[in-house]
Amino acid sequence: MTSAKTSAIDQTSQPAQPGHPPGWSVPETFPCLKPLSEQEQSLALKTALTHLGHAAWLEDAFKGLGSGMTLACLRERIATAVLNATFEQQEAILKTQMATPLPAALAQSAERYVQQFGWPHLVALAGPRRAGMTHETLASQLERRLAHPVDHERRVSVQEVLRTLEIAFDPLLNTEPVVGDRLWDWHEDLTRHSDQEGALTVTFMTAAHQQVALDLADRMSQCGCDEVHIDDLGNVVGVYHGQDPEAPRLLTGSHYDTVRNGGRYDGRLGILLPLACIDVMHQQGIRPARGIEVIGFSEEEGQRFAATFLASGAVTGKFNYDWLDQTDANGISMREAIEAAGHNIEGIASIKRDPARYRGFVEVHIEQGPVLNNKGLSLGVVTSINGGVRFKGQIKGLAGHAGTTPMIQRQDAACAAARIILLAQQCALAHPGSVATVGMLQVPNGSINVIPGLCEFSLDVRAPTDAQRDTVIAAIVKGIREIEASESVCVILNETMRVAAAPSDPAMQQHWDNAVRSLGLQPFELPSGAGHDAMKLATVMPQAMLFVRGENNGISHNPLESTTSHDMELATAAMLHLIQSV
Ligand SMILES: [Zn+2]
Repeated sequence: MTSAKTSAIDQTSQPAQPGHPPGWSVPETFPCLKPLSEQEQSLALKTALTHLGHAAWLEDAFKGLGSGMTLACLRERIATAVLNATFEQQEAILKTQMATPLPAALAQSAERYVQQFGWPHLVALAGPRRAGMTHETLASQLERRLAHPVDHERRVSVQEVLRTLEIAFDPLLNTEPVVGDRLWDWHEDLTRHSDQEGALTVTFMTAAHQQVALDLADRMSQCGCDEVHIDDLGNVVGVYHGQDPEAPRLLTGSHYDTVRNGGRYDGRLGILLPLACIDVMHQQGIRPARGIEVIGFSEEEGQRFAATFLASGAVTGKFNYDWLDQTDANGISMREAIEAAGHNIEGIASIKRDPARYRGFVEVHIEQGPVLNNKGLSLGVVTSINGGVRFKGQIKGLAGHAGTTPMIQRQDAACAAARIILLAQQCALAHPGSVATVGMLQVPNGSINVIPGLCEFSLDVRAPTDAQRDTVIAAIVKGIREIEASESVCVILNETMRVAAAPSDPAMQQHWDNAVRSLGLQPFELPSGAGHDAMKLATVMPQAMLFVRGENNGISHNPLESTTSHDMELATAAMLHLIQSV
């Protein structure tokens, strides 16, 4: 931060809001959390209305904003108002915008865009780090957006307008997200290491994987961790001591391996963000009451070996030694891979933690879904990691001539499959929070003129509690029996995987709620549809997770996975609050 900015903040900053633990200066560290002066607030509102086209309904939405409003609150207020507006209101905003200037080579596509959607092509050109966008990124984004259905593209365009506004506020109010930018750069820096050229792929114990571990260990030291080590499974562990060495530590972390051609935040955010917290505390000479232990788990995704969560599994004492004999695609066993990296198999047993020495486990993770993005919220408090059951299904009908067999005499396996897919959709919809997916569907050896005699499908059902999930499954199974009778087919369901739900510990979840509330934001709760390291830790200690909004409609396991400096900044502030109050 430049000295000019520091003095500007000093003039306007006020005491931290009630609810912030004493001892550290929130507004100076996170300028978007400083209460805006009346003058700043009216400047911000004027800027917002200018950007959004002075609609009367927007002016109404901003009425009654109290004094002491922070930029973080204001941003969220604007985003939720715009995202909850009617399609007509949103399109009115879009039509008042000037088209984003694009390189000449893209002019034709941009013209096609206006004709297709009726509003100009809009991009928050500064990008998630406010460092601009390459021509290549712009071109591929435009192509992608031209393929969007209109409702989807309207939402994307509105998000771009909101993002442009979010960026415009910072120079006006001296609110650049310094901590968020730092985190952004740390993530970027780690992408140097990959198993694959031109894509981010980091799988267990490859050269790139070992490099990431070394970088993380360095980062931990630089941030002020008092103890740093890499264990015999490649987990990177950093400890920042608290005031009371006897107090059970807060455990946190996530994984640093990736899927093939994955995103840079999945997992890594949950390692680097706690380090950003430690960095802030270290710089300000603050020691929390209890120590904090950050683990960069070496493996979660199960890419090189079929052993998902092997790292967090070892921390809970459930490492499966049979896994060591598994081989990768090149015939290298896990044992060989671990030893080639200089680790000791005998050391794995000592990775197990004694739960009594920990207050609990918290994990910050990018949402990997569209919920927060569509609601205009930066953060979400996780209520539960959904429990899942997977099935492989087979439908046996009777193959027959597509021309000669009357419709009422058919035993069409594909028709039954179609009904089962819709049945699963209805059953999940009837139990909010649950999801059901048929992701694989085949007519083996099918032919254009043959009634399908056999159909194979997969079924994946998840819900926030095991009981709810089993209720959904029971409803699906009951419906399948009816479909069997009416379609004259036989359906066989084989369960292939069952994972228990991991509801958040209510007290720990409350700490996240309070942390979000301390930022002046209304906590929003949602279940996690994806599995996380936290569900392993949940078997031995209380756990609760915080989600950070993903850009690009929350896409994940994809290079387009992204978040912004602004959202990471808020998540860091929330976690600092949790660390000091838990
Ligand atoms: Zn992950």
